[in-house]
Amino acid sequence: MHNHPRYSRQILLQEIGKEGQVILQNKKVAIVGIGALGTVAAELLARAGVGNLLLIDRDVVEQSNLQRQTLFDEKDIGKNKATAAEKRIKEINSEINVESLTVHLSPKNIETLQNADLILDCTDNLQTRFLINDYCRKEKKPWIYAAAIKTSGYVMPVLPYGPCLQCFLYESNQETCDTVGVLNTITVSIASLQATVALKMLLGKETGLILYHYDIWNQNFKKLNIKKKENCPTCSGIFSHLEKKETSKYIRFCSTGKYQVLGPKVDLQEIKKRWEKIGAVAEDTTSLQFQNITLFDDGRALINAQSAEEAEAIYSKMVGN
Ligand SMILES: [Zn+2]
Repeated sequence: MHNHPRYSRQILLQEIGKEGQVILQNKKVAIVGIGALGTVAAELLARAGVGNLLLIDRDVVEQSNLQRQTLFDEKDIGKNKATAAEKRIKEINSEINVESLTVHLSPKNIETLQNADLILDCTDNLQTRFLINDYCRKEKKPWIYAAAIKTSGYVMPVLPYGPCLQCFLYESNQETCDTVGVLNTITVSIASLQATVALKMLLGKETGLILYHYDIWNQNFKKLNIKKKENCPTCSGIFSHLEKKETSKYIRFCSTGKYQVLGPKVDLQEIKKRWEKIGAVAEDTTSLQFQNITLFDDGRALINAQSAEEAEAIYSKMVGN
């Protein structure tokens, strides 16, 4: 490899070196969730020269995201997160391949992860995490769990032969829909730790089967050894999350209070014409935004509403039945 000024400072590290840099350039990482963790992890891996990135997110940028989602600024409000992040990452490093997908990851489209060497869980919900957990165990792919809330967070590498997420997190750990705060310094720290573990895994270094916990407010850092749970369904080859059908057409996102409606495919241009008779419509590559609804070309809609009934009423009125 010729001298590459862009990466010169990390090639000097004995942990990486010229050989390591070449390895990184040939790897592909899929990042699921381009929010507080995903924006930071994507930026760090792009700057480090990981050659191929796939950015996946189902949501649009809101003003309340700007406190911690570092790839976005005010002009991105209302735009698809994955698309906006792709554009920004390409400005940071035009020498790597970046793709983005604005989708709700489900058993139907989980195969989009198949070419990735490593998957980063930067989501904010257990449903998607258990889906990734089942898929990765089945396909023998490594992934990294990460989560942050209030002033602390977790990171854990999940290897094809080690303990999995279901070995220590139970589905009965019901998520509540209470909105809690989060410090931007913890999301950046947890994403940095996750990206560091990612670099080590891509380079084939030992990471250990460790759950890291960090409370940045109290400067408390812990490493917990995790063991396989006896009778863990995922480790026993029962991948129920890959078979799950969406039980409802209406799903509430705990983190934002928005409702997601899984509708049939729509003709965005036809709907745009209809909405423009009422007011101004904002358009992105695969979506339209109008008043309290964002509609994607695959028929998915995100609606700001107080209840599932209200979301249903808005969807019927604005899109159809
Ligand atoms: Zn397990």
